[in-house]
Amino acid sequence: MDLFFGNVNIADVLTGAVYKGNIAVKGGRIVGIGDVSPEKGMKVIDCEGMYAAPGLINLHVHLFGTGRPAKALGGGKAQERLVRLVRTPVGKAVLYKIMESNAETELKSGVTTIRTVGDFSGVDFKLKRNVEKGRSRARGLRILVSGHAITVAGGHGAGTFALTGNTPEELEKLVDDAVREGADLIKICITGGVMDAKRRGAPGEVRMELPFVKAVCDRAHSYGKKVASHVQSSLGAEIAVRGGVDTIEHGAPIEGGTAEIFGSRGGAVVVTYSPAIPNALLGAEATKLDETAKFNSEVVMNGMTECAKSAPAYGIKIGLGTDASCPFCTQSGMWRELVYYSKRVGVTPGEAVRTATLGNAEILGIADETGSISVGKSADIVILKENPLKDPRAYSEIEYISARGRLLVKPKPSKMPDIEALLDKITEEL
Ligand SMILES: [Zn+2]
Repeated sequence: MDLFFGNVNIADVLTGAVYKGNIAVKGGRIVGIGDVSPEKGMKVIDCEGMYAAPGLINLHVHLFGTGRPAKALGGGKAQERLVRLVRTPVGKAVLYKIMESNAETELKSGVTTIRTVGDFSGVDFKLKRNVEKGRSRARGLRILVSGHAITVAGGHGAGTFALTGNTPEELEKLVDDAVREGADLIKICITGGVMDAKRRGAPGEVRMELPFVKAVCDRAHSYGKKVASHVQSSLGAEIAVRGGVDTIEHGAPIEGGTAEIFGSRGGAVVVTYSPAIPNALLGAEATKLDETAKFNSEVVMNGMTECAKSAPAYGIKIGLGTDASCPFCTQSGMWRELVYYSKRVGVTPGEAVRTATLGNAEILGIADETGSISVGKSADIVILKENPLKDPRAYSEIEYISARGRLLVKPKPSKMPDIEALLDKITEEL
């Protein structure tokens, strides 16, 4: 539908300024901004007193879960049963519905682009295809998919959202398979995570050694695909950089020499506070974490902050994602990530919005397509009651969304009230 947002306060993420004007949308693109008039056939929406901001980009999404802490993803028999189920035709159909509904929730929460970084059974390829064809409730959402993550036996996600290989050659083959099936990027897991750490103070133990990482990166780059890696320790970051990884996910302190190399080749760290902060700050009655996991969550959270504060000086870009599907990482919570980032790293709310829009688009290499309200770009626009450059919480209540020109009116993303209440408390106290 061709759209015309009239009399709206337009948030410019580049300058941090807000100016009044109209926005004309035709064929899913922004065709005019400022003192422009509606063309015949455009749906005119009066936005007096409201704010227009770019749609958010969530760089770290898993679509298989809702974010409610679940025993079935914590390992053991329950997880094995679930994984066996999602490999059957019936399981795949059920999983597709869950993932589609979660993609729709991302969209209704003002996220117009997601990058998935590890999902079961490649169902994400099918979902992306259907969304692109307009045959989905999530149509309008731009999806970059990785398919399964790739790691070695015993690596993070092995047996669930990651496939494993025992040799560099086997990993190369997994890259070939993913690209053939439609992957836009390759996700690997170099280190372990908080949940699979055996020792207190040692989250992020290296599981994938350098030759394995290098094999995957070289193969992916030969197809022109970027590589994102789960990294939760300094040693893991060093291996990621030496192996050729393009984006370090979650983050950990990066040693100076390594940071310099990473920055000079345009590397980025994708910060994900959404799992780290609740797991570190909520009590055990809510998280069900043991003392070791809670302590390690704190290590990861502080490592992220140290990394996000020091990396830009080396030219490393910072991106934002939620790690949706992890415990407490809901599919509607991208706006919280902006609040966490702003408060923990000490950047202005406007800088947090710029990072989650234009900054994230630059990391994906699609900044000429989305990430700001600019003539010629895709019409990925969110209309809000308040100015998000003053407080990103404005994204939590949305009046209209244009997702590549698809209009959503007063969208209500599905939410879990009990989880929201817990998260609201932390967000206030930060
Ligand atoms: Zn993840």
